[in-house]
Amino acid sequence: MNLLPDKTVERLSQYRRSLNNQLSKGKTHIFSHEIANLLHITPVQVRRDIMLIGYSGTLRKGYNIQELVDLIGKIIDTDEGQKIAVVGMGNLGKAFIHYLDERGTKLRIVAAFDINPEKIDKTYADVYCFHLDRLAEIVHKEGITIGIITTPPEAARDMKFLLRDAGVKGILNFTPKPLSEEEGIYLEEYDMITSLEKVAYFVKPR
Ligand code: ATP
Repeated sequence: MNLLPDKTVERLSQYRRSLNNQLSKGKTHIFSHEIANLLHITPVQVRRDIMLIGYSGTLRKGYNIQELVDLIGKIIDTDEGQKIAVVGMGNLGKAFIHYLDERGTKLRIVAAFDINPEKIDKTYADVYCFHLDRLAEIVHKEGITIGIITTPPEAARDMKFLLRDAGVKGILNFTPKPLSEEEGIYLEEYDMITSLEKVAYFVKPR
């Protein structure tokens, strides 16, 4: 199967969380318009995404929720899950480790890295923090495929190259410094300040 558009992958992740929630309420089937309502998008969008992954429901009952959850899992996850490294154990890095620990995804943060001696050789929510010098060694040993950058923005570019050279395949950049794309690495930017300023713009007194 060709790679899906990234917006579709984002929505599949959202569908799965909503669908799991419905399953836990004892619901077995769901219509596209119900999913659409839960996520504030259009039913056409939902049907298009679900068609893209080769699934269809029945006219009378809609989609079988468990089947759809399983299929999304096959598309998004790997059987053994993927391992993540967090670089920069400041407030953001620590928050990330604690947050993901409780989400029950197939993604697992297995190592943290920093350069500050006060942060190193300590454990945060069961995640050990190593000196940055050991990044390549640990990435290789653990088979880490994803890196999250939570250093100050000035260090982000160096961290990208360090992670790439170590063999990491995907990066989530949590610093406000946008990074340029690199061959062979999937890069996702998440800038909290941009998101927050967007909200602020729409609500500012006029
Ligand atoms: P704290 O006050 O606990 O350091 P913070 O969130 O204010 O928290 P930042 O200055 O944003 O910290 O830095 C985030 C983390 O990134 C810190 O733990 C810092 O030691 C680390 N850091 C800074 N430069 C680098 C670098 N080049 N490589 C790896 N980690 C770095």
